[in-house]
Amino acid sequence: MLAALGAAPAATAQTPNGGGGVTYVSTPEISTVSCLRSCATKKRARAGSTVKVTGTGLSGVTALTFNGSYGRSDDAVVQVRAGSDTRIHAKVPSGAVTGPVSVATANGVRSARSKPLAILPPPAPEPNVELSPVPGQVVAGAPQLETGTSRTKAYVGARRAVTFSFRLSGPAPAALTVELVRASDGLAVKSWAPQGVVPGVVTSVSWNGNLGRVPAAPGRYSFRLTAAAADGSRATSAQTGNIERDAFDLYDHVFPVRGRHDYGGAGAGFGSGRAGHSHQGHDVFAKCGTRMLAARGGRVQYAGYHGAAGNYLVIDGAGTDLDYAYMHMAEPSPFRAGDRVYTGQRIGSVGDTGNARGCHLHFELWGAPGWYDGGRPFDPLPSLQAWDSWS
Ligand SMILES: [Zn+2]
Repeated sequence: MLAALGAAPAATAQTPNGGGGVTYVSTPEISTVSCLRSCATKKRARAGSTVKVTGTGLSGVTALTFNGSYGRSDDAVVQVRAGSDTRIHAKVPSGAVTGPVSVATANGVRSARSKPLAILPPPAPEPNVELSPVPGQVVAGAPQLETGTSRTKAYVGARRAVTFSFRLSGPAPAALTVELVRASDGLAVKSWAPQGVVPGVVTSVSWNGNLGRVPAAPGRYSFRLTAAAADGSRATSAQTGNIERDAFDLYDHVFPVRGRHDYGGAGAGFGSGRAGHSHQGHDVFAKCGTRMLAARGGRVQYAGYHGAAGNYLVIDGAGTDLDYAYMHMAEPSPFRAGDRVYTGQRIGSVGDTGNARGCHLHFELWGAPGWYDGGRPFDPLPSLQAWDSWS
């Protein structure tokens, strides 16, 4: 969805200047954000697109932040120079994901966040599922290489890992390394040294999306195989800086509703009025029976039936400080408190059990320490829209 928002109340901020006095800097305000050039579709941007921000008080703005979904790990900041007090253009950097935009002046005066700007992920890398010869690579005396990678999209905490397979021909390798290369900086963040590899036999290594016990940052990665013969001649499946071959994108969440869906009207949003309280999640409407997956794996904290929530499930997200709540499921979830769930695993179906008008998933995100455990719910819509853009 494209931003088109109401104005926040005008305000000014006091900022000390170097001369010991006080400069009044008007607080920048964003009214619209839209994709202007090189857009993915009419309303969606992607890396390389130019977006236009309109508003007021923009002349002192020097930085624009694509806030992405929850937390700062997916924020992307670009330096900008305002064309006027009411208009800024900015280029979408790679790594920016769907979410609100905000701007800041050189003095650190920051605007409120806009409504989410839809940013499509970059096109998936070329699939290379079947083993194929590494092109352009013939090193005299070195083994010849064939490689393949099982998928171009992978998810943190998923049951199915990414698998890299390879086969050598020619001389038996004396030394062999498989590296996992992070595209953003070209660093090898993990490596394997398979033993006993013989020419003609397919060998595989798998990666589960973790570095040590910690989930790796989302983004593009690729596998690189290097094989050396006894005489020291070496062959490699990818040159340094080439992240095209055997590449895949790692994502941190799956969109939970697997079918046609919409984000409802005004009453579907976080904070909208309910009898005696305010809405603590966002409603995603889809046909009853639509498959529902765990947006993020983890440990089931609560599973049961509640008069208002219907059949519900709460998952403590592995590697996050968040709890994920799913309500109104058509049937009780097969999972029980304490069970382990993988990212993308089916947890149930969209339904209308409990106090629900129309078939929908009522989805909540809660910060630490958790769901009705001292944590607080926050608006999950930017996160849902980001996950929806890639899965
Ligand atoms: Zn709801």
